[in-house]
Parts: sequence; C-alpha cells; structure tokens
Amino acid sequence: MSVPFERDHAASWYAATANAAPERAALEGEVGCDVCVVGAGFTGISAALHLAERGLSVVVLEAVRVGYGASGRNGGQIVNSYSRDMDVIEEKYGADTARALGDMAFEGNRIIRERVERYAIDCDLKDGNLFAACNARQMQGLREHKALWERYGYRELELLEGEAVKREVNTERYTGALVDHGGGHLHPLNLVLGQAAAIESLGGRIFEYSPVTGVEHGEPVVVRTAGGRVRADRVVMAGNAYLKGVLPEIEGKSMPCGTQIVTTEPLGEARARALIPNGLAVEDCNYLLDYFRLTADNRLLYGGGVNYGGSDPADIAGVIRPKMLTTFPSLDDVKVDYAWSGTFLMTLNRLPQFGVVNDNVYYAQGYSGHGVTCTHLAGRLIAEVMTGREERFDAFAGLPHLPFPGGRLLRVPLSAIGAWYYATRDRLGL
Ligand SMILES: Cc1cc2nc3c(=O)[nH]c(=O)nc-3n(C[C@H](O)[C@H](O)[C@H](O)COP(=O)(O)OP(=O)(O)OC[C@H]3O[C@@H](n4cnc5c(N)ncnc54)[C@H](O)[C@@H]3O)c2cc1C
Repeated sequence: MSVPFERDHAASWYAATANAAPERAALEGEVGCDVCVVGAGFTGISAALHLAERGLSVVVLEAVRVGYGASGRNGGQIVNSYSRDMDVIEEKYGADTARALGDMAFEGNRIIRERVERYAIDCDLKDGNLFAACNARQMQGLREHKALWERYGYRELELLEGEAVKREVNTERYTGALVDHGGGHLHPLNLVLGQAAAIESLGGRIFEYSPVTGVEHGEPVVVRTAGGRVRADRVVMAGNAYLKGVLPEIEGKSMPCGTQIVTTEPLGEARARALIPNGLAVEDCNYLLDYFRLTADNRLLYGGGVNYGGSDPADIAGVIRPKMLTTFPSLDDVKVDYAWSGTFLMTLNRLPQFGVVNDNVYYAQGYSGHGVTCTHLAGRLIAEVMTGREERFDAFAGLPHLPFPGGRLLRVPLSAIGAWYYATRDRLGL
C-alpha cells in the first residue's frame, strides 16, 4: 500500500462522543469463513450484518477501527435516493433501470431505522432533512424533484416557498426549500458501532488494525493481512475511497474526494433552536454544497467543500468557518471545537458501482457523497446476491463504470475546472 493507515479514528466530535466499544484485536494466523468483508464502514458492516442474520459465517477485516472511514465522520444526514436522481437514470439508462432503482431509492433509509430499532442502537436518530434553494433556478429544481419522487411513490415531501423557509432555517441565504419529513440525521459512528456489535452478537468476527494487503483469487479466495490470512468462499470489498491499491480492478474508474466538517462549541438549546427551530438536517443545492445540522448536545455541525483527489486543507476551520458565517452571521463569537476531514468516492455518473470480480469477490462503492442510505441498501443487496436472489444487485451492477476524462493523471485538474464552472454558475444564480 502506498500510504500507511493511521491507528485510530480522526479527532472528530463523533469520536469524542462515541458510545463505548471494544477494541478488537488484529488478525493473527489463519481463519476460514463463508464470507470475508474488507472494510468496516457502512457498506462492509451492513453487508456483514445482513449475511450474519442469514446464518453465514462472516469475518470483517478493518485496517484501523470500525467506522474509521467516511462512515464514522460524515454529516450524518439520512438523504433518500442516490447522488444522481431517477430523472437522469431514466434519461441515460432507460425506464426499466430507473424503475428498478426507483423501487429501492427509499429502502436504505428504512433499513437504518429497522437496525436502530431491532438492535436498540443509541445514535441520536432524528426525523427530517431539508434541501435549500439559493436561487430561483434551484427552487424550480426542487419543485421538479418533489414531482419526481412522488412519481416513484414517495409522499413525505413539503415545499417551502420564499420566506417560509425561515420557519426551518433562520438565514437570509435561501429562497425556498424542500423538506423531506421521512429523511433525518444521526450520529453515524454510533450507528456503525451498534451494527458491529450486532454482528458479533450473531457470531460474526471483526478484526481491527488489520489492513488487507492482497487478495489471491481462487476457490476459496485468500485475503492477506500483515499477520494472517482469511480463506473465504466469497469476499466483499468495502474499502471505498480508503482502499488504496488492494484490488486495481475496481479502483481505476472513480476518484477520492475530500470534504471537511467543523462543530462549534455547545450553543445551548435556545441559541441552537434559533438557527434551526425544528432540528432538521440541511443541505443546499449548490454544486459544491454546504451541509449542516444540530447535534444532540446543541452544537452546529457544519460541512462543505470538495477537494478532488482527497487531499486535506491545512486549516480546516479556516475553510469551513467562513461558509458557516455566511449562513449564520450571528455565530461570529462562537468557537469551533472540532474540525476534521473525510474522503468519499466519486464516480463520473455519480451513481454507485456494484459488481463482482472472478465470480466471488463482490464490491459496492462510489456513492458520490450521498452514501448513508445507499450503503445500507448495498449491504442487503450483497447478502441477497450471495444467497440466491440476484436481480436487485444486478440492476446496479448493470450500470456502466465510466472512466474519468484525463485518466489518473488529469482527472483531478479536469474535475476541478468543471466544479469551478458549476460553482461560478451557482454564485451568479444562473
Ligand atoms: C465528511 C463527509 C461527509 C459526508 N456526509 C454525508 C452525509 O451527510 N450523508 C450521506 O448520505 N453521505 C455522506 N457522506 C458520504 C458517506 O459517508 C459515504 O458514502 C459512506 O460512508 C461510505 O461508506 P463505506 O462503508 O463504503 O466506506 P467507508 O466508510 O469509507 O469505509 C471504508 C472502510 O474500509 C477500510 N479499509 C480500506 N482499505 C482497507 C484495507 N486494505 N484493509 C482493511 N480495511 C480497509 C477503511 O479503513 C474504512 O474503515 C459523507 C462523506 C464524508 C467524507
């Protein structure tokens, strides 16, 4: 591997407020199982839990700690559907594909709620998220968005035209919004830790500090770490943007991207509620979007920006705090207590990449910035395809995996130029 892994979670507000969890030992020696899962983020943990529930023996290998990657440090927003919506899927990939994906667009959200309830996971789950329009074009997009989701049978949406948006977000920035009463937000690290405990309660094994260094294809597949080997009938590769060279077959047609988050000092309930009275999670409709919400201890958690290629800015608060103050100037006197960065995996068509290599190494990745719900769906679909139901996994696997223009060398500058163009349009309200 080119870049060594760290030894612990990023120093985030999530890590500081995580529920107690065991430190799991590194893999040593050889073990066997039905399915070996590489990566303990939402994709890997969701897949392992669905598989364990179906009675398969699972071994999860995690390079650092459970939830170390994007899953343990994201905005925590439960956003329905996919990063590209069904209208684009209809147009590019046809009505049948759109119908198949549309039927699953709200399922990841339901899976999360089922998990939280069944395993009594304490993760600050709250209902409701909001898409905010910064100009008339974006507001028109939200009206179309509502009509689109309603065509796919989803009825939890409410448009807030003009000043009505201030009922939910107390800022001058927005010209309107779309509330998804069925969306929500949560503490993502606690969600993944709770599901990891559920896997172990069903007999599954999880090893931390166990970066996978290679996969030997065959029957069984052999998955190697520095200290051990797992012999498995099947493998799930769930390293997403953090995979770093283990399975080149699945790493060429995507791009790691960094995004940063800060949390303020606690604001107290009254000041927090003055910003977001009903506690919805918010994301704006800009190409380089801002996303924010209140935490259970009444901090503002605010994220934004994208660094193509995944490199971190030296001064995260210096990048994000000005964005936060543009939205909420009244926070000028408020300290930032935590600032961190995370990496997600972008694909060219913004749709996730599902597939299988050599008939028994499955993967799901590239949720393109909206992965909290789709990762949970991915886990279920992987368990389905491994236990004889193929058509739902195949609906995703049939989507093309497109290379970025410019290949590995030029994809970062070319994407940055594209983003600059769209961000400029957003700034000009075009
Ligand atoms: C800052 C940030 C904010 C975001 N906000 C939101 C949001 O609010 N809502 C939303 O829907 N989406 C959001 N996303 C996207 C979402 O978090 C991701 O799509 C999702 O968490 C991906 O989950 P994953 O399990 O596929 O990958 P990850 O969570 O990244 O997990 C991959 C895991 O694999 C491990 N791994 C990698 N390589 C190896 C190896 N060789 N051996 C062993 N283990 C390995 C890593 O250590 C890591 O733990 C955000 C992403 C970021 C970075």
